[in-house]
Amino acid sequence: MFKNHCCAGRHMPVLLVSVLVAVALLTVTPALAAQATPQKAVAAAAAPQAAAVKPADSDEQRIQELILANHIIADLGVVDGFGHVSVRSFSNPSHYFLAKSKAPALITREDIMEFDENSEPVDAQGRTPYLERFIHGEIYRVRPDVQSVVHSHSPAVIPFGVTTVALRPIMHMAGFLPQTTPVFEIRNAAGDDNGILVSDRMLGAALAKSLGDAPVALMRGHGSAVVGPSIRVAVFRAVYTQVNAQIEAEALKLGPPVFLNAMEAAKVDTANRGNVNRAWDIWASHASGGAKK
Ligand code: MN
Repeated sequence: MFKNHCCAGRHMPVLLVSVLVAVALLTVTPALAAQATPQKAVAAAAAPQAAAVKPADSDEQRIQELILANHIIADLGVVDGFGHVSVRSFSNPSHYFLAKSKAPALITREDIMEFDENSEPVDAQGRTPYLERFIHGEIYRVRPDVQSVVHSHSPAVIPFGVTTVALRPIMHMAGFLPQTTPVFEIRNAAGDDNGILVSDRMLGAALAKSLGDAPVALMRGHGSAVVGPSIRVAVFRAVYTQVNAQIEAEALKLGPPVFLNAMEAAKVDTANRGNVNRAWDIWASHASGGAKK
C-alpha cells in the first residue's frame, strides 16, 4: 500500500482518522441497514400496488375502454341513439359487459352492466338492459376468439343486407371483410311473423350461426354485428365496415367495381392490425373533445 515505509509514520494521523471513520461507519451501518430494509420493503410492497393500478388487462380496464368505444362509435356515426358495443369479461370469460338501455354517446361508468352466459344481468340495480343483448351473449358463447361485439344500424350497410349485392372488401382499410359478408335472415329462424329484433337467446344463436367465423354479419332490414379480438379491433372494423359500404355503393353507380381479392385483403388486414391504435387514438381524442378544443 505504501511505496516508502519511511513515510508511513507521517501518515499515522491520517490512518487514525481513517480507522476512526471506519469504526464509526461500522457502528452506523447497521442503523442505515435497518433504515434501508423497511424502505426496500415499502418499495417491494408498492410494486404490486403500482401493477394493480395499470395492469396489462382487467375488467375495469376493459370497462373504461368500453365507455370510450361507445363515445367513438357515436361520434363517427356508426350508431345514433341506438346500437351498442360490449366486451367480454376478463375475470369471467363466460360473462360480458354492456351498457344499460341508453344512447351510446351518453354512456358513463354507472351505466355498465355485467351479464351472465345467458345474457341475464348479474346485478341490474334497477337498470333496464338492451332488448337485443342476446346478439352479444350468443356470439360470445360460440366464438371464444371474440372479445368485443358492436351492433349497429349503420345506414350505409343496410342496402347490402336487403339486396343480392354482397358487401365485399373494396378498399384497403376493410381488408378484414370476407369475400362475401354473410347476411342473417331472421325469417329463417323466426318465420315471416317476426319482430326483426334479436330479442331472445334463440334468435341470438341463429345470428351467431349466420356469422360463423366471419368478422361481420349483416342483418337483413336491420343492421350488422361486427366482432373482434379486442374492443379496439371491433370498433375499427365497425367503422370501416361502414366506410367500405359507402364506397362500394358509390362505385356500383359508376360500374362493376374491382374488389380486393382474398390475398390482397388478408395481407393488408395484417398490415392494418398494427395501426389500430393509431386510429383509436385520434378517434378517442375527437370523441372526448380533445381535438375540438
Ligand atoms: Mn338493433
